[in-house]
Amino acid sequence: MVLVYSDEKNLLLELIHLGKDLAKDEHKKVTAVIIGPDHHSKDYIMHGADVVVVVDCAIHPFKAEEYTDILAEVIKENKSEIVLIGSNKNGKELAPRLAAFFDTGCITDGTKVYMKDKKLTVERIVYSGNAVSVEQFTSKPEIVTIPSKVVDPLPKDENHKGDIIKKTIPVKPSPSKIVSVHQMKSESVNVEAAEIIVSCGRGLKNKQDIHLISELADVLKGRTVGCSRPIAADLKWLSEDHWIGLSGHKVKPKLYIAAGISGQIQHIAGMRDSGVVVAINKDPDALIFKSADYGIVGDLYEILPKLTTAIKAKME
Ligand SMILES: Cc1cc2nc3c(=O)[nH]c(=O)nc-3n(C[C@H](O)[C@H](O)[C@H](O)COP(=O)(O)OP(=O)(O)OC[C@H]3O[C@@H](n4cnc5c(N)ncnc54)[C@H](O)[C@@H]3O)c2cc1C
Repeated sequence: MVLVYSDEKNLLLELIHLGKDLAKDEHKKVTAVIIGPDHHSKDYIMHGADVVVVVDCAIHPFKAEEYTDILAEVIKENKSEIVLIGSNKNGKELAPRLAAFFDTGCITDGTKVYMKDKKLTVERIVYSGNAVSVEQFTSKPEIVTIPSKVVDPLPKDENHKGDIIKKTIPVKPSPSKIVSVHQMKSESVNVEAAEIIVSCGRGLKNKQDIHLISELADVLKGRTVGCSRPIAADLKWLSEDHWIGLSGHKVKPKLYIAAGISGQIQHIAGMRDSGVVVAINKDPDALIFKSADYGIVGDLYEILPKLTTAIKAKME
């Protein structure tokens, strides 16, 4: 039995796909879990879940202790052997707690998950993106966290059948108390969902020059600006919503344009699954060209305005 959980709908759809791949050889079922009101159970079934367990309870805001108790109960009842948890902020709190509860292992941020000789095998990027660790479990349940975009959701199949099971699980009040919640400073950018991203790095000389990037993003109708870590974390020219890479967001657009980005492994780790990659860099030996489908060697201050004008003319 494979159990999948995330509080993000799209991530849960992706986990259902991964769960199906793991379950298919042994004809096991994939159970998706919803904690809270049931909004999407039918969607989960149409995207491949065999069972959806809905634990309708009013825990708000999220409390790791209480969610752990609920999931542990569902895992016990289902006798789940493999547990895939979406690797967002809440998922990262839940997974190790569950592992401690069951006295088992937890592998975090798996980028590839598959069965090898009937054993669950997980690959994850380690040493800042310089190596891949291949790991297996020695105890059950096997708990793995999976970041978004590792796979796409399965296509919707309106004829796919599954069971929806409603449950109430009594929850022991958590010993911790949330004192206040502050909203993060955000510019309402969702790079993870973007189909076209124009990204900038330290090749830009000033904050004001970001308009060169956003103008190109605008004509491409993508309107999504990304950046390397120094632009968001050190210079703070853009908010962290735009930050792409190992410690930033993982993206999978159809088109990724990298301007003035050197292409260090930690940046590549966040955009390596992009469809077409175009790199603009004045250094012909820049690493980014190794990850690019098209490379333009030259000064971004000359190239970006020309590219924007040419694409604008084409789009009209
Ligand atoms: C644990 C860890 C996690 C990290 N996580 C991330 C992460 O998530 N994301 C990330 O991006 N980085 C991350 N980094 C940092 C990463 O190692 C690099 O330092 C960073 O990606 C470099 O950013 P950059 O390419 O913008 O800058 P630089 O490496 O300084 O590159 C600037 C590039 O611009 C080019 N250039 C300069 N002027 C022009 C011009 N006029 N026209 C065209 N090209 C020009 C240069 O040739 C150069 O290639 C991480 C590092 C560590 C150690």
